[in-house]
Amino acid sequence: MLSATRQLVSTPQSLRHNLARTPLPGPRPNRKTQDDGTNLPSLWNHQLNPSRTNLAEPGTNLESGAIACSAPKAAIRYSEQMFGRLFLMIGRLVASSILLGGIAFTARAQTVLGVFAHPDDEVYWGTGALLAKYAQEGYSVHIATVTLGQIGVTTFANIPAGAELGAARAEELRCSAEALGIQPAIAYGFFDQALTTTVVMDEFARKLRQTINQVKPDVIITHGPDGLSGHIDHRITNVITTQVFQERERLQHHPKRLYYLVYPETRIPLASGATDGRKQYNTATDLYITTEIDARAGDAAADKSLECHKSQMTPAAMETMKRLRKTTLSSIVYLRLAMTDGPWPSGKETTLFEP
Ligand SMILES: [Zn+2]
Repeated sequence: MLSATRQLVSTPQSLRHNLARTPLPGPRPNRKTQDDGTNLPSLWNHQLNPSRTNLAEPGTNLESGAIACSAPKAAIRYSEQMFGRLFLMIGRLVASSILLGGIAFTARAQTVLGVFAHPDDEVYWGTGALLAKYAQEGYSVHIATVTLGQIGVTTFANIPAGAELGAARAEELRCSAEALGIQPAIAYGFFDQALTTTVVMDEFARKLRQTINQVKPDVIITHGPDGLSGHIDHRITNVITTQVFQERERLQHHPKRLYYLVYPETRIPLASGATDGRKQYNTATDLYITTEIDARAGDAAADKSLECHKSQMTPAAMETMKRLRKTTLSSIVYLRLAMTDGPWPSGKETTLFEP
C-alpha cells in the first residue's frame, strides 16, 4: 500500500484532469453544429445483433424448398404429401433448433454502455481493461463520449484548443475504441467544460436516451458523483446518466443496472493526494463498493488504447499509466451499484452481469 502511495504521488501532471483550465474565449459550437459536424459514426451505422436477422433464413428456406418434389404426380400424390409433411416437420424442427440456439446466443450477447465525459476517460485507470475484457467475452460493448475535450491542451502536443483539438481527440477516441475491440464510439460533441446550463444538460439527456433506445444496454457504467478526478464534466455526466436511467417513462428500452466507477479508499488513501493536502483523486469508502472485477484479460488492449491518446499523454506518461493500473489497482476495477432491477447483491460481485 505504501508503494502504491509513492506511485500515485509520482503520477504525471499531464494525466490529471486540470480543474483550473479556463474556458475558451470566443464562440462555442451551437447544438445544431454539434449534431451535424462533430459526431463520430452515428448509431445508425451500428449493426446490432446481426445474427438475429440471419437466423430467419434457414427456416424460410426449409419451408419453401425442402418439400419440393419432381416425381410423377398421380400415383404418388398421397405419399408425396406424406413425405412432404414429414420433411416439413423435420425442417421446422431443425429450424426451431437453430432458432432456439440463436435466441440463446442473443441472450448471451448482453450489452454494456459506458458513458464518459471526455476521450481518454474510457481507458482511464482500469476502465479500458474492463471494456476490453467484456468485448473479448462476446458482450456487445459501446461507449458514449459527451465532449471532445476541446480545451485539454498540452504543451507536448501543441494543438490549439477548440475545433482542431476536438477533431484530433475524436480520432484518438476512434483509435481507442478499435484498440479495445469495442463498438465504434458514439461522440455527442458537446464542448469541454460547457455542460452546466439547463439547455445543454437537457440536450445531453435527450442524446443519451436516444443512445439507450438504439444500443439497448443491459448495464450502464459511468463516473461516480465524485467525478474521480473531481472534473466538473465527470460530475455532470454522472448526474445526467443517473437522471436518464431512473426516468423510465421517457425510455423505450430500460437498462437493468447502473454502476458508478469508484476508487476505493484502501487503494488510494487520503495521504496519497497532492502535497498541499488536496486529494488527487476522490474515493469511495470500501463499504459502499459492491463490485470488484478482475480485468487483467483486458490489460493488453487497454495498453494499446492508451497509446491512441497522443494529445493527452507523453509516451512516458502512457507507460506510467499502464504500470499504475497493474500495480496500484492490481488490474481490478471497482464499481458501486447505484440502481438495479434485480435483487441487491448479498456479497461482493465479481461481474457486471448476474450469473
Ligand atoms: Zn475526463
